[in-house]
Amino acid sequence: SISPATLSAISNAAKKGVLFKGGIHMENLSNIKAIALDKTGTLTNGKPKVTDAYFKKDVDRDYITCVVGAIESESTHPLAQALTTYSNENTDTNQPIEVFGMKNISGNGVTAFVDQKKWEIGKPDFVGMEHANSFLDGVAGKLASEGKTVVFVKRQDDIVAVFALKDTVRDTTKAAIMKLKNLGIHTVMLTGDNEITAKAVAEEAGIDDYIADCLPQEKVEHVKALRNKYDSIAMVGDGINDAPALASASVGIAMGEGTDVALETADVVLMKSDLSKITNSISLSNRMNRIVK
Ligand code: ADP
Ligand code: MG
Repeated sequence: SISPATLSAISNAAKKGVLFKGGIHMENLSNIKAIALDKTGTLTNGKPKVTDAYFKKDVDRDYITCVVGAIESESTHPLAQALTTYSNENTDTNQPIEVFGMKNISGNGVTAFVDQKKWEIGKPDFVGMEHANSFLDGVAGKLASEGKTVVFVKRQDDIVAVFALKDTVRDTTKAAIMKLKNLGIHTVMLTGDNEITAKAVAEEAGIDDYIADCLPQEKVEHVKALRNKYDSIAMVGDGINDAPALASASVGIAMGEGTDVALETADVVLMKSDLSKITNSISLSNRMNRIVK
């Protein structure tokens, strides 16, 4: 049965906006030595905006922007929503675009057929790195070093446009990471984004380490590897993709604004998506453990 000290700690945490789904998770949280954090929606606000657009010479920019919007409007990915908004706000023509066979390629991008041509929208590796490099001549690297996600648009064998999107690090992130470090907890960012963008965001957030180009299914492997190394670890995430990784951690923590699947899978929910609540909860659980023992 649950001890009065545990019950009181859980109720205190709840008052501070942290929902523990059981006393054991509070006990486990006080033992963690490392914490893995998803990037988009966890460390960042998860609401990217298009900041730059480049087009191949002599293409119909309006048409291409319309097609990108039409394809991405069928995806719920945060980048897709930003590209759809951009398309709506930056096109004059109302030409109806018919999209066929749209596919989400998890961790990579999307593909679809429009006007009998195959379109691919996504990361450089996904559209083919050789195309990606030749198109922008170093500009893509510069955009990524500013922490922007660079999305390539390929029609058949041609890169016809490149968009850069910038997400912002949450106001509460930096201080929270600092506090975790002060508690001696190793911090690692997991992201599907590329190496250069990941590095820039990790530096901005003050994270110890990062793993880039991480496919959703690979997040679980990285969490398991961290568990082998640090014994007890927490994972924080918000997306459907994060659920398996949350389940594999000693303590799975979900951001309150996250998807239902993440909220259901997690052991702990941060009701206000504020990472500094984690350190508050660790202090609470340490105090509880002293009373229980
Ligand atoms: P994260 O782990 O940062 O949330 P994802 O694993 O969801 O990222 O996606 C990894 C990368 O795949 C993105 O940075 C982007 O380059 C590309 N990508 C994914 N979905 C889309 C999409 N709908 N449109 C364009 N690019 C996408
Ligand atoms: Mg996320």
